[in-house]
Amino acid sequence: MKQADTRTYLAWLIRDAATAELCHMGDHGPDRIAWHTDADAMLAQAQDWSKTGNLFTTLHRIDPAALDEYVTDARQVDPRKQPRTPDHVVTRFSRLFFDLDPERPKGTSSTAAELREAEVRAKGLKDRLLGIGWPLPLMAMSGNGWHLQYRTALPSTQEWREILRTIYQGLNSELTDDVVTFDVTVRNPARLCALYGSRKRKGPNTQDRPHRQSICWIPSDWKQVHPRQVEALANYYARQSSQTRSNASQTPQEPHTAVRVSGKGDYASLDVVRWFQAHDAYVGRLAGNKHGVRCPWSHEHTSDSPRNASDAVIFEPDGGWAGFACKHSHCAGRDIRDVMRLWGDADAYCSEQFHPKRAA
Ligand SMILES: [Zn+2]
Repeated sequence: MKQADTRTYLAWLIRDAATAELCHMGDHGPDRIAWHTDADAMLAQAQDWSKTGNLFTTLHRIDPAALDEYVTDARQVDPRKQPRTPDHVVTRFSRLFFDLDPERPKGTSSTAAELREAEVRAKGLKDRLLGIGWPLPLMAMSGNGWHLQYRTALPSTQEWREILRTIYQGLNSELTDDVVTFDVTVRNPARLCALYGSRKRKGPNTQDRPHRQSICWIPSDWKQVHPRQVEALANYYARQSSQTRSNASQTPQEPHTAVRVSGKGDYASLDVVRWFQAHDAYVGRLAGNKHGVRCPWSHEHTSDSPRNASDAVIFEPDGGWAGFACKHSHCAGRDIRDVMRLWGDADAYCSEQFHPKRAA
């Protein structure tokens, strides 16, 4: 693998994503945003914005027509607000992006020793996936941690988002400990990633915790991971987590953890909004206790959903169980229990355990 300059990195990005957002983060979040379709123009803008703050880009393929529509809409709503790329304009995951971040005091840059820990984990992950036939990824020192980027071309559908969720959660439970965190949150379609070659400025720039210029290394033959390999890894983690579940149910005296995976939740205490949010399927409140969601079976629908997703709704519980309903004919008869069976993790979003003897 060869160290690549920012121009080379951006050329790969534009080749796969076609359109990418360049985002400058100031002290209070994103303050300058531009979309680019040309690597040289993007590089020139990045150099122009690089004197302060931090630079990021999106990673995945954007539908230019959907983006145009969104940017116009967002500016009409609030012209002072910088519209960042929304998830729904991303049509395809061009990268599997893995981020290993060393534990350290909040809002600081990492020490050399902390950075080294993340490097060891990142290289271990690369070797492990190489061992099951995956191609080499881009590797990067992001300033404070280490990244892997696998080239992919996966449609941004509900089904693929579920597959990615399974992989990220599996890798998280395998790799995260007190020293390094495998970040599960970097998998949403419009996710930003550090622009390699730019300086990462986090907290004060000290001798122990310096601001560093990020570096990336790109394989000379940067191949895509086949969708079947991605699915196979997700299946591995799905099986593993169902084994963990059945083991857990045999040991009732398990120490209490924030997320319980055994089937003991009292479904009357299900936080249905948080549950749908965790599955990237929440859209927004409609009225009262009713919320618009993306139907978990939307890939089976024969017609598209309206923007506010009022065709599929959830109801917060009002004395009983939460509800789910979808108007599409393929979903006739499906209710909240079908969603529970499909996702299999509703227990983790119940605030209380189920006690069979309690009066109903
Ligand atoms: Zn449906």
